[in-house]
Amino acid sequence: MTKYVKTIGLEIHVRIKSKTKMFCGCKNAVALAPEPNINVCPVCMWFPGMLPVLNEEVVRLGLIGGMAMNCEVNKVSQFDRKTYFYPDNPMSYQITQLYQPIVGKGSVKTIVNGEVREFGIHHMHLENDAGKLIHAGGKTLCDYNRAGAPLMEIVTDPVFHEKEEVMEFLRELQKIMRAAWVSDADMEKGQLRCDVNLSIAPEGATEFGLRTEHKNVNSFSAIWRLIDHEYKRQLKIVESGWKVEQETRGWDDERWVSTWQRSKEDAMDYRYFPEPDLLPLELDDDFIESARATIPELPIEKRIRYLNEYKLSDDDARILTTDRALSEYFDTLVEKTKDPKKSCSYITTILLALMNESEDVNNISDLKFDIVELTRVIELVNGDELSSTNSKQVVEELFQNGWKADIIVDENGLRQKNDLWALEAIVDEVITNHEKQVADYRGGNENIFGFFVGQCMKASKWAGNPKIFNELLKKKL
Ligand SMILES: [Zn+2]
Repeated sequence: MTKYVKTIGLEIHVRIKSKTKMFCGCKNAVALAPEPNINVCPVCMWFPGMLPVLNEEVVRLGLIGGMAMNCEVNKVSQFDRKTYFYPDNPMSYQITQLYQPIVGKGSVKTIVNGEVREFGIHHMHLENDAGKLIHAGGKTLCDYNRAGAPLMEIVTDPVFHEKEEVMEFLRELQKIMRAAWVSDADMEKGQLRCDVNLSIAPEGATEFGLRTEHKNVNSFSAIWRLIDHEYKRQLKIVESGWKVEQETRGWDDERWVSTWQRSKEDAMDYRYFPEPDLLPLELDDDFIESARATIPELPIEKRIRYLNEYKLSDDDARILTTDRALSEYFDTLVEKTKDPKKSCSYITTILLALMNESEDVNNISDLKFDIVELTRVIELVNGDELSSTNSKQVVEELFQNGWKADIIVDENGLRQKNDLWALEAIVDEVITNHEKQVADYRGGNENIFGFFVGQCMKASKWAGNPKIFNELLKKKL
């Protein structure tokens, strides 16, 4: 039987987080505005006679986003008018870039199943968003807060064959946009919306099959389900001797079904033409280079560095690079402690867990204590002055109340006792108080050794140095 291979391309809309909208001074409320239709004006409502003025911040952030995906910059790009009517769009057209986008070919690197992979970007262009329709109580309401908000549309090459590749690519894209401060790219808030194009063809075929497009599949898990479903649907069609039609379909993630919406429009249907109200966009070298200078080390480069130089696990490297502030915190901590493994584990196993549960501290930038204090905790542990068990308590207290690590350690009597005389007294006492166990051990039951260490630790209120207890016990037993 013929084996069919699926090919997937993505069109991704990312909401740019500029302060104001694309062509007017209205607030670009990236999170939901408290009320409908408050961030609107005659320009974004497209009243007759109004003219758009291109927002420089949108161009700068878009350019940064494009360059962070290694895209070639087009020094001259142009806006085009795409005509369509829909009630969420007061303009009856959209201003987009069809013929000459702001950036062309690029690529995004990520790790798929432990392997570094690179996926091609066809281009990215700028365009404005529409408003939002709310269907309630048998009526449809229009909210234009989002109308005229700036978007990047990222079009990938048809380079994905497995859903794991799509997932890792999208996660990486999200990280890039966050790291470059271009967008929060939160799918739940509609700041990253994904159209999925999928076709199938017999293995080894030189041409792609006809593709279907699913618009606005709005969560990672929905994309995962849709890819499986659409592959099986198309497979069934070709295996029954029919042909897949080129069409736009909708994905219903509650019922897990894909439904026909319309046969795919050709560019002709939109009557594209150069936007007469805007001049071509020309970028000078200074503008491009100053934008480029703001791009930080990309999350994937950091991740590879953490894996190779610091020998962190891929999971830890991935987690630490999800957020720019988090990875910068980690970098600073490593610089201070020179201990990447411990720096990683204090962040990933203690701090992140505390932030998850906390009501007021959810970001690394909200921490109540200075990074110097966490550095000190790691120094104390490495210098045998604090046990790693007790260090957790110190970090928890820093997290809740701020303050200083050394003071917390001393006030709670946690400073590890390395004083041989004091520890020897404890060992002697434990031996005297546990005659039966001592006899057992001396009779050959070596498994019981841990029990003595435990008793000594307990007697020292967990402040004794376990290594010293170990040595003393071995000598005395
Ligand atoms: Zn406006």
